[in-house]
Amino acid sequence: MKRVTILGATGSIGTSTLDLVERGGDAFRVVALTANRDIDGLADAARRTRAELAVVADARCLPALADALAGTGTRVAGGADAVCQAARAGADWTMSAIVGCAGLNPTLAAIEGGGTVVIANKEPLVSAGELILAAASASGATLLPADSEHNAIFQCMAGDGAAGVRRLILTASGGPFRSWSREAMAAVTREQAVAHPNWSMGAKISVDSATLMNKGLELIEAARLFPVDEAAIDIVVHPQSVIHSMVEYVDGSVLAQLGPSDMRVPIAHTLAWPERMSTPMAPLDFVKLGRFDFEAPDPVRFPALRLAREALRAGGARPAILNAANEVAVAAFLDGRCGFLEIAAIVEDTLSMYDPPAPQDVAAVLAVDGEARTIAAERVKDRVA
Ligand code: NAD
Ligand code: MG
Repeated sequence: MKRVTILGATGSIGTSTLDLVERGGDAFRVVALTANRDIDGLADAARRTRAELAVVADARCLPALADALAGTGTRVAGGADAVCQAARAGADWTMSAIVGCAGLNPTLAAIEGGGTVVIANKEPLVSAGELILAAASASGATLLPADSEHNAIFQCMAGDGAAGVRRLILTASGGPFRSWSREAMAAVTREQAVAHPNWSMGAKISVDSATLMNKGLELIEAARLFPVDEAAIDIVVHPQSVIHSMVEYVDGSVLAQLGPSDMRVPIAHTLAWPERMSTPMAPLDFVKLGRFDFEAPDPVRFPALRLAREALRAGGARPAILNAANEVAVAAFLDGRCGFLEIAAIVEDTLSMYDPPAPQDVAAVLAVDGEARTIAAERVKDRVA
């Protein structure tokens, strides 16, 4: 029996993980579930799974959570520190699925707790990748990637490590505006941006997929997780989202991982690893699929990719600034406070205005993150004014 904790249990990744855990029955026992404010979703999941502990990050929601779970035997707690304590409680397997850099401390706490920590929450890896890897080697925790591309690469490298690897090829769906003109993209609405053609995801990552910043963050994530140079990581648009990524070896072999575009496939891989477990996926029908297409991403309509590659190359604080400014700009777009094309422009402005030294510890990363957010928020106001 595996003891599991899910950080961000009410989100898109969180509910996909819960679905697999609940289907697994006695194979899993839920230690802790956390959420930001969604009391109904959290209490419902805790009741269904008989979780030992339910934690709400926004402490003001604790009384409502306590009411909702009264008499169930699930303990409750509230506040950001309580989320970290729950993460550190020593589950065998922890899903890190909070959205944004808000997941940094909880992810580090889970790593300190040891066991297997599955990373869906990519933003902390972008902002503080070296610190996260160092924490994992200090505690002996095993990190596994849930992001479909990185999980695909992990599977294609199985057994060989990075020996003989020439190139990683990250695939991108291209998002909902893959073939739109820049003029049309300028008028994109929130509803259009969150309606991804192939994947059902939280609002923030859906917008990131539409700007291709998600692929930029994933480029940095890949450079953190796999011992490969930035120049050896390519990005190719593959609109069908069936090939989740590929690894090319020096002998010319290319290994790919394919599957339905449902996050339960990579999550199940990490839940059962190093074994396999069954999922409710229908098998791929290759005859129905008919073809796989590939094209190069357009650097003019999707500048986020260039910004991310530059940030990765420069290193230091640049990836943390890129990520923080993007979080602010995406939130502004989702609230109707800036246009779609302004997201990348705000990120670029923030990067050009702020160039602190490389942060050496978590407090310094969070300080850079905070300052970049302040600058990006000013840029949002200036652009709207
Ligand atoms: P989501 O918005 O659907 O869910 C986010 C979860 O985090 C919720 O449970 C929410 O309550 C919690 N949360 C939000 N802010 C918080 C805070 N400040 N403190 C504590 N908890 C907080 O997001 P999602 O789509 O599930 O994505 C989660 C992470 O996984 C993101 O980093 C995303 O990039 C990554 N990811 C998602 C997918 C996907 O298919 N959704 C795929 C790959 C990677
Ligand atoms: Mg991905």
